[in-house]
Amino acid sequence: MKYRFACDCHNHSRCSFDGSDSVLEMRRRAQELGLWAHTLTDHCECQNFPDRYRPRVEMAFAEMSLQVPQGGRTRFYKGIELGQPNQDPDSAALALEGRDYDFVIGSIHNIRGYEDFFYLDYSQVEPGFIDALLTTYWEEEREVIAWGQFDALGHLTYPLRYIEGDHGIPVDLSKHQEAIDGIFRALIDSGKALEVNTSGLRQKIGRALPDLPLVRRYRELGGELVTLGSDAHCVEDLGKGIEAGMDLLREAGFRRFAVYEQHKPILLPLE
Ligand SMILES: [Zn+2]
Ligand SMILES: [Zn+2]
Repeated sequence: MKYRFACDCHNHSRCSFDGSDSVLEMRRRAQELGLWAHTLTDHCECQNFPDRYRPRVEMAFAEMSLQVPQGGRTRFYKGIELGQPNQDPDSAALALEGRDYDFVIGSIHNIRGYEDFFYLDYSQVEPGFIDALLTTYWEEEREVIAWGQFDALGHLTYPLRYIEGDHGIPVDLSKHQEAIDGIFRALIDSGKALEVNTSGLRQKIGRALPDLPLVRRYRELGGELVTLGSDAHCVEDLGKGIEAGMDLLREAGFRRFAVYEQHKPILLPLE
C-alpha cells in the first residue's frame, strides 16, 4: 500500500445477512493487506433488532472479541453499523448496551415507511418524487446526528448509489446544498466524523459516498474528522478504494483522518 496508515473502518463479515466471510477471515485479510487498523462493522437495522438482529449482533461481538489473529501490525477494532437508529432509539440503545465497541457508524438505509433505497422502484415516479425522497433522507440524517450515540455518519448520499448508479437517473445536488450544509454543520458542532465510503468506486455510480465536492465542502465549513471504509462484504473487497479515498481526502484539503478506539479518534497522517 502506498499509504503507511491505510485503514478500513467499515466492512462486514458473514454475521451480517449480506456478508460472506467469517470474522477471522476478514481479520486475516486485513493483516495480509498490511492495514494499520481494521474495524469490522456488522449491520444492525435497528427497527428489526428485537426479532432479527439481536442474535447477529451478539454473535458478531463475541467473534470480534475472540477471533484476533496473532502477528502482523494490524490493530483490530470492534465496530457496528447501526441502520436507522433515529427510527428506533430504544433498539439502538439495546444493540449497544453492555458491548464495549470502539466505533459506531450511524447510517440511513431506508426512510420511515419505505424500504431500503436498494429496493425502491424509481422507474415510474412522479416528477419531484426523488427530490422529496432525498429531502426526507437529509432530515433523517439530521435526526441521527441529534440522536448522537455514534462516532461517524455512514455513507452520506447512499440513495444516489441506486438512483444515479443503478438506475441512471441524474440528481441535481445543488438543489439540496442547504440541507447538506446543515448536516455538515450539525456534524461539526457535535464533534462527530464524516465517513468517506469507497464502495461506490467499485460500483456503478463510480464515485465515493460522499464524493470530492461534498467532502471539500465539509472541509470548507470546518470539518476535521473523517473516517474511511470500503463497505466490503467479502474478503476480496476489503481495503478496496481506501487509497483512492485517501487521495480524495488530500485533494479536499485534509492532512489527517481518524480511526476510533473506544469512541476516541486517533488521528493518522495521510502520507
Ligand atoms: Zn450501510
Ligand atoms: Zn455497511
